[in-house]
Amino acid sequence: MHHYPAGILLQAGHTGHVEDRFGHRISYLRVSVTDRCNERCLYCIPQELQEWLPRTSVLSYEEILRTISVGTRLGIHKVRVTGGEPLTRRDITGFFRELGQMPGIDDIGVSTNGTLLSKLENGVTMAEHLVKAGVRTANVSLDTLDPEAYAHATGRDYLPRVFEGLAAAKEAGFQSIKLNAVLQKGTSEGQLAPLLDFAHEHGHLLRFIELMPVSTKDVLSEDNFLPTNTARRLLESHYDGELVARPDFKTNGPASYYQVPGREQLVGFIGAMTNLHFCESCNKLRLTCDGKLRPCLGSYLEFDLLTPLRDGATDDELAALFQDVVDKKPKDHDFRDNYQPNRKMVAIGG
Ligand code: SAM
Repeated sequence: MHHYPAGILLQAGHTGHVEDRFGHRISYLRVSVTDRCNERCLYCIPQELQEWLPRTSVLSYEEILRTISVGTRLGIHKVRVTGGEPLTRRDITGFFRELGQMPGIDDIGVSTNGTLLSKLENGVTMAEHLVKAGVRTANVSLDTLDPEAYAHATGRDYLPRVFEGLAAAKEAGFQSIKLNAVLQKGTSEGQLAPLLDFAHEHGHLLRFIELMPVSTKDVLSEDNFLPTNTARRLLESHYDGELVARPDFKTNGPASYYQVPGREQLVGFIGAMTNLHFCESCNKLRLTCDGKLRPCLGSYLEFDLLTPLRDGATDDELAALFQDVVDKKPKDHDFRDNYQPNRKMVAIGG
C-alpha cells in the first residue's frame, strides 16, 4: 500500500472551505462519468481519437461517489455530471439517485446532448428520473437548428430527439435548462438568431461558447474560430440594437451575460480564448472518467486518484490529494499559450 501526502486532514463530516493560491474558493466539481458518446462531434472527438477507454480504467459509480464525498470535506457542494454523454452510461439514473442523497451536495447539474432525455426507463423519461433524483439544472448542447447541419456536425441524425429531449426536460421541471452552442466560423453565423429565438420561445437560457483547443490542437484553427465578440456584433446587426452587458447576472460560471434588444431575454457568451478575465472567478475542479483530478480544463496538470482509490487509500489520504490539486490550480488556463492538448475532451468532461 502506498503512502500519500498528508496535507490537511479534515475530520469526517467537517465541511471545509478551501481556497487556491489566488483566493478562489473551490466549491464545484465537474465529473465525467464516461468517455463514451452516442454522437461524434469532430471538435470534441476528432476522427483519430474515436476509440473508447477500456472499462476497467473507468471509475465505478462507487469510486466516483466516494471521490465526490471526499470533495465535500473540502467545500465541494456543487457537482455537474458530464462525459462523453453521461446518459449513455448504464444505470446512470441510479447514480444520480445516490448523488442526490449525498450530504453536503446541494446543487447537481447534468451536461447532455439531450438525445436521451426523453428515453423511457420503466415508463418514465430520463429527464423525470433526473429531476426526481434531485438534479437541478440541465445544460443541453445545441449548435444548430438545421437538421442537415446537425447531422453533419454530430455524425448523427438526432436533432428531432434533441427537441423531444428538451420537451421532456421542460415537462420534468428542471429549475433551469440552458442551451450551449459552440461557435464555429462558417457554420454558426446563420444560426445565432434562430437559436436565440428558439431559446426565447421555449424559455431556455442560451450561451454561445468559443471553440477551445481541446482533444487535439487541430480542433481550433483560424478557419473555424469565431470569437464571441463577432457573434455579438452579428446579433446586434440582426436585432438592430445593442446587446447591453448585464454584469449583475451570474450563473456560477464564466459566462458574461447580455440583454437582447427589445426583450427581457438574456444571452451568455463564454469566451475562453478571447476573454482575458475568463479564469478570475473559477471555482472548479474536474474529475475525469479515468480517475484523474484536474485543477483546470486548459492545463496539462492532472493527478491520479484511481490508483490510490483502488490501493486502499483512506478518506484522509484522498482529501490530502484533493488539497494538493487545489494548491496547484493555475492562475489561468494555457489555451492561448500554444497549448498542445493531450487528452480527449470526452474523458475530461466538457
Ligand atoms: N455530451 C454532453 C454534451 O453534449 O453536453 C457532455 C459532454 S460535452 C464534452 C460538453 C460540452 O463541451 C458540449 O457543449 C460541447 O459542445 C463542448 N465542447 C466539446 N468540444 C469542445 C471544444 N473543442 N470547444 C468548445 N466546446 C467544446
